Amino acid sequence: RAKADGRGGWRWFEPEMNARMQMRRAVEVDLRQALERDEFELHYQPIVDTATRRIRSFEALIRWRHHERGLISPDAFIPLAEEIGLIAPIGAWVLREACARAAQWPEPIGVSVNISPVQFAGRKLLETVEMALVMSGLAPERLEIEITETAVLQNSDTTLGVLRDLKKLGLRISMDDFGAGYSSLSSLQSFPFDKVKIDRAFTRGLEQSRKSDAIITAVTNLCSGLDMCATAEGVETESQFEALRRRGCQEAQGYLFGRPCMAEEVPALIAQLGYCATLPQAAE
Ligand code: C2E
Ligand code: MG
Ligand code: MG
Ligand code: MG
Repeated sequence: RAKADGRGGWRWFEPEMNARMQMRRAVEVDLRQALERDEFELHYQPIVDTATRRIRSFEALIRWRHHERGLISPDAFIPLAEEIGLIAPIGAWVLREACARAAQWPEPIGVSVNISPVQFAGRKLLETVEMALVMSGLAPERLEIEITETAVLQNSDTTLGVLRDLKKLGLRISMDDFGAGYSSLSSLQSFPFDKVKIDRAFTRGLEQSRKSDAIITAVTNLCSGLDMCATAEGVETESQFEALRRRGCQEAQGYLFGRPCMAEEVPALIAQLGYCATLPQAAE
């Protein structure tokens, strides 16, 4: 119960709490129906090769097109979906949809899919990924899975097992938002990552802060020493792009090349930017 602040502050605090909880409950009810109502959609953002500026892959990013509230960003509903046990069915839909879409793009353009730490808890993920590949006919080498450090830290033994099995299917694994959380070098050593996505906080500081420059340089060198690909997130300017390219960062993603766009717009973007004819080597 809210405490009075001496000026009757609780009178304000309590109804506000109530309103927030009612709001949450309303969103929860809607979220439970969103799959049936077919309200989710995937937007795709290009990831380019820094040497050629051509497209290597697209990251699939979920949005919720709510019948009344319009387009809702993942940060506003993914945590709730994780909490109320909906992330598995939503995540399965994302995998099916992303693979089916990517199978229509020119080879060997890839697609990367974000996987919630919660999806690693059970043994279901492997089956879900396999099904998405089989049903779409997408070559496993064209699928990438992005996970954050949280997934690695929680149940690290289970996660490691699942990651190894996923790699046996032939797909690639990326560590997302590297440097943002409790990133540890030991997870780069213990887990079979093919790629590290450097958090956009570091890209933002490029050429403005010596520290960001040094971190990007160090992470890029580290990746090359580990035979992993380095991808910079949040690239918005030419000068950031140029600085990344000079430092040997192999891939770039950000508004400079395109915001996440609807599936229908992808072919035009491919025509505009071009694409890489070969896949990069996967780490062993
Ligand atoms: P993320 O995986 O790190 O995705 C990158 C986010 O950065 C996206 O936000 C993207 O729109 C944004 N971004 C890309 N380029 C730029 C740029 O140049 N500048 C700035 N300021 N932002 C940029 P979005 O789409 O809102 O997604 C947020 C997060 O939601 C994602 O972060 C990911 O963690 C999560 N997410 C998205 N789709 C899914 C999904 O299908 N499943 C799960 N479990 N999580 C998802
Ligand atoms: Mg991601
Ligand atoms: Mg990221
Ligand atoms: Mg993120």
